[in-house]
Amino acid sequence: MDEIELVKSTDIFKNCKNIVVGRGNLNANILFIGEAPGKNEDIQGLPFVGAAGKNLDKLLAKVGLTTDNIYIANILKCRPPENRNPTTEEIKKHTPWLMKQIREMKPKVICSLGNYATKFFFGSCNPDNMKKQPGITQVHGKIQIIEIDGMTITLIPLFHPAAIIYNRNLTTEWKKDMEIVKQEVLQHKKV
Ligand code: URA
Repeated sequence: MDEIELVKSTDIFKNCKNIVVGRGNLNANILFIGEAPGKNEDIQGLPFVGAAGKNLDKLLAKVGLTTDNIYIANILKCRPPENRNPTTEEIKKHTPWLMKQIREMKPKVICSLGNYATKFFFGSCNPDNMKKQPGITQVHGKIQIIEIDGMTITLIPLFHPAAIIYNRNLTTEWKKDMEIVKQEVLQHKKV
């Protein structure tokens, strides 16, 4: 099965309105990866367009970034019912598409938003390794150099923008982490 058929073989595909592939600039050097589409993303067919997305846009603007200089995608391409957590099975069937996106885009920097995206990369992109990985509270803002298909990529784990809406105390942490993103962006931003 190819990447698209794998996604279509999952139950969440049958219940979703749109497959959410990504938005932004595919020629950018920086890729942000979230968890899964929510209700608004499902309706519009674009990632991070609801409340979390509005917060992400605001947080990005503070470091001079817009979707002109980044691309945004998710671990899952379809919305899980009631926004429940992704299952390992779903992650296994949806991430081959994400890996294809990474191979085509060749980003220099990946910012993983929240636990699921972070654990996926910490677990060497193998969903079976994810449960053993540390949570975002432990690793946010700590740069990792990862290898994907021969590409050397700087991974920067960040809190999920939705978590920041619900826990404003995380804003201070996010600001510190974004200073790190800013340094990396200055190195890799295409002008
Ligand atoms: N949360 C995510 O992780 N991704 C989206 O696209 C929207 C909300």
